[in-house]
This record gives sequence, structure tokens and C-alpha cells, in this order.
Amino acid sequence: MARKVHIQFLWTDESVMLEDFGKKVSKQMLEWANEFYKPYGIELEAKPAPNVGTVALAQKFALVKNDGIQPDMDDDEEMKRDLTQKYDEPYKKLEMELAAKQMETERKERERQAVSSTDFSTQARLSQEVTQLYRQQIALLEQMAQIRSNQQFARMLRDYDTYLRIQMMDKFVMDKIGGNDRVNVVFAKFKQRAGPLTMRDRKGWTVGITRRSSYDHPAVFILQGIPRLLWPNIYIVLDIQRFHPSTLAHEIVHTVGESHPDPVKVIKNLEKLLNYRPPKPLTMLNRIFEQVKDTKSPDEEGIYKVVDGGYFDGPDNDIMNYSGWRMNPSDYILPDDKKKLFFDSKAPYVTD
Ligand SMILES: [Zn+2]
Repeated sequence: MARKVHIQFLWTDESVMLEDFGKKVSKQMLEWANEFYKPYGIELEAKPAPNVGTVALAQKFALVKNDGIQPDMDDDEEMKRDLTQKYDEPYKKLEMELAAKQMETERKERERQAVSSTDFSTQARLSQEVTQLYRQQIALLEQMAQIRSNQQFARMLRDYDTYLRIQMMDKFVMDKIGGNDRVNVVFAKFKQRAGPLTMRDRKGWTVGITRRSSYDHPAVFILQGIPRLLWPNIYIVLDIQRFHPSTLAHEIVHTVGESHPDPVKVIKNLEKLLNYRPPKPLTMLNRIFEQVKDTKSPDEEGIYKVVDGGYFDGPDNDIMNYSGWRMNPSDYILPDDKKKLFFDSKAPYVTD
């Protein structure tokens, strides 16, 4: 029995769609995926069928007319760093205050218990002090929650995911496109950047990404004072500029539940490792000194490098492994454990 994965093609704007139709990116990716999956009894069924119908008909599958979202993959790391600096430090400070307050409360509670129960005035005073300390704890917890909520808002404001989800929801509400029974696959032009690129996919550049259904973000996002509904489901976004025809086939495995292993730290330079002298244990004085002279860590010394878990996801020719850069569907395999995900999937977009 064959398993079908139902997908909904979308484009970030009309120019992206026209460019895709010219280069046949979506068409190639779908054909590649179906050739790859066929021996495993799996089929991708896409709507609209690529390159059929007129452009005018297909225009309803562009999320917006002009100026579509350009996902910026490199911003992920920058964003994490910025937001961590801005919010994590004040959060940690409050966390320490809270710990101190908890200790003080326990101490006060013990003090109260030690006082004779007939010493009413002391009992009353200490009870009041304990209550006061609990109130202060609650106030700290509230401040901490506020910081986390501000941090989440700031992150969502910067993440292309938020804007894509808003637009996908608008598309669903206005044109009834998308739904629980199809995975949205959005073709986009990723933001091109000079400088080093992230190592997230084959050949060192990102060609596609699957964004999970996020239970950590709310269903509604207040954008410029206006509540906007967010598309709640898992979806795929693919670059039409730099692409490998296998990308859709790869990302689809994520939609049935496969996650890459965690990144792995590997030794890059054995010679440097032999010569590496770790910094002295951090005494208080050392720690202050540390901030001034900025001791380098082994990875900064070029001894280690962090390698994306995708490079360790199955054998080299596994469709989920990044290290392959082969062209033909028959050059790749779908191991049994990954094939099983399709047949076990309870997702509404996977059917017989
Ligand atoms: Zn992947």
C-alpha cells in the first residue's frame, strides 16, 4: 500500500512564482522526490500541479502580490546572540535574587518555628515577615515572566517565520488555500549575504528549511497593535535561487517527524590541540582578568569546529545526510527507520 504525502505549493510573491516557472524549480523538485520515493511506496501529491494552468490561475497561490518575504537564514544566529545578551543577563540577575530570597524565607521560617508558640507578638511579627518575603518572591517571578515574554516578542518580530505564518493564515482565510490535510511548501528567494554562509545543508549553504508547528508561540501575534492569526502547522520553505533538486525530498522527511541529530564538535586541528594550554582555573581574580585579556576557547583557537548534525544523519547516501552531493534520485536511499515514519505517521496530510 502506497503512502501519500499531500502538499500545497505556495510562492512568497508573484515574481518568485514566475521565476520558479521559468527555472522549473518546483517542478524539478517534485519530480525528483517522486522518482526517489517510488521504490519505497511513497508518493508526494501536490496542489497546484507544477506548471499547469495559466499564470493568472496560479496567481492565487502567491502569498502576496509584491515584496514577498525573503527568509534570512543567517539572521537566526545573530538574532539568538542579540536577544540572549539583551534579555538573559537581566533574567539571570533576577534568578539569583530569587534564590537569595528563597533562602532568606527558609531562614525566617525556621526562626519562626523556633519561637515559643505562646510568644504571640514575636510569632505575629515573624509570620508577617515570612508573608512579606513570599510576596517579594512572587514579584520577582512576575518580572522574570515579563522578561521572557518580551524576549519572545522581540524574537518573533525579527523572525521571517512570523510574517510567513501571518501571510499563510491570510491566504487560508481569504482564499481557502492550505489546511490541515496538506503541508504548505513555500518557494522563496532567500536573502543573499556576503561573507561566510551557514553550514546548514549540502555544499555549505541553506537551500531549504522545515519550520515545525510551534507550540511555543501563541496563535495570535500583535503586530503594530493589530492582532494577527498565525499559521499553526508545520511547513517547508525552499530557496529557488540556490537549490538542489533533492531538497523537497529531504525536507518532507522532517514533516513526518525526523529531526537531525544534535551538532557535533569535531577536532579540526590535531597539532593545535597538542599545543593548546587551557587557561588556569578561574579564581575570582582570574575571572576579572579574563574579561580584560579575553582568553580564547579551543574552538576560537581553531582546534574544534561544530558540525551540523545533518552530516551524521544516517549513511553518506541517506537522503537526510548533508554530506552527499549527488544528482540522481537513485544515488540516495531512505533507510527503513525513516521509511517507517511515513507509514506510522498520524499526520492528517499523510494518507493511504
Ligand atoms: Zn534537514
